[in-house]
Amino acid sequence: ASKEKGKSKLVFYQSKLLAEVEERFQLEQDLKEALEKKQFVLYYQPQFNLQTKAFSGAEALIRWNHPQKGILPPGVFIDVLEETGLIIDVGEWVICEVIKTVRAWESKGYYLPRISINVSSRQFEKQNLYKLIKQANQGEHTCIRKIDLEITESAMINLEKSVETLTSLKKLGVNISLDDFGTGYSSLSVLHQLPIDCVKIDRSFIQDLNQDSQNVIQMILNLAKKLDVKVVAEGIETKEQLDFLLKEGCDYAQGFYFSKPLSKQEFEEKWLIKTSG
Ligand code: C2E
Ligand code: MG
Ligand code: MG
Ligand code: MG
Repeated sequence: ASKEKGKSKLVFYQSKLLAEVEERFQLEQDLKEALEKKQFVLYYQPQFNLQTKAFSGAEALIRWNHPQKGILPPGVFIDVLEETGLIIDVGEWVICEVIKTVRAWESKGYYLPRISINVSSRQFEKQNLYKLIKQANQGEHTCIRKIDLEITESAMINLEKSVETLTSLKKLGVNISLDDFGTGYSSLSVLHQLPIDCVKIDRSFIQDLNQDSQNVIQMILNLAKKLDVKVVAEGIETKEQLDFLLKEGCDYAQGFYFSKPLSKQEFEEKWLIKTSG
């Protein structure tokens, strides 16, 4: 009987595994289709200058408008895009879509100081971002200076090559931010070698404001000041978190306390102000 039991357990695990493989395969197919059928959309989350409280820009965040499941967050699909290499094409779409959108806002007379775009490690390594951004701008340079590329520390494995890529991008006029700062392993040792403008303190430090995380945040702020880079705190949800960061002299902030990421339409209506007729 126990042999039978073992056998049925095995069959159970096999079919579970098979189901997982099939599900994963289906997801890959669906994601390919999502790109072709233009099911990806960008949401925008506003950012603020902490000291002046002024609106200072936005981060573009991808969503998948799934035909059955509705709006899905990147946590559900971004890893698969990376693993399959689809992130290259999707990343290209993101950059072109952001530039198109910012141009449209500019031509409507809206003022948007800055727009952050996430770039995944694989994209940073494999994609010719310089060429892509240059081409997408087609000789217009008003918008390029507003672009802020958010790259994680994990993309900086090959330091020499990373510095080279970042330096060329900086020549284009874009800003560079280190995203999810403090969660990687190389943070402190390489920070001064990277031509970056800004670090984003990872949400995890803000969300659980105990003595340890407060120390880490203070250390990041001190270091950033010494290196003359700006600091954005992400994931601010409470007044207490806001007050702490303000007291410690953090430059910018974003989080649900101010606003969740919004659809293009909602963001435009809520946060963009006309500067001219
Ligand atoms: P991230 O770049 O660190 O983006 C910040 C994430 O924190 C976003 O999640 C945002 O919705 C969330 N967030 C902001 N404020 C709060 C808050 O107060 N509380 C909480 N709980 N969350 C907050 P989202 O949109 O789900 O994106 C997750 C990650 O997916 C991003 O993390 C980024 O790494 C990646 N991602 C998003 N869009 C793109 C994209 O276009 N390209 C690439 N390569 N990655 C992207
Ligand atoms: Mg980001
Ligand atoms: Mg982040
Ligand atoms: Mg994060």
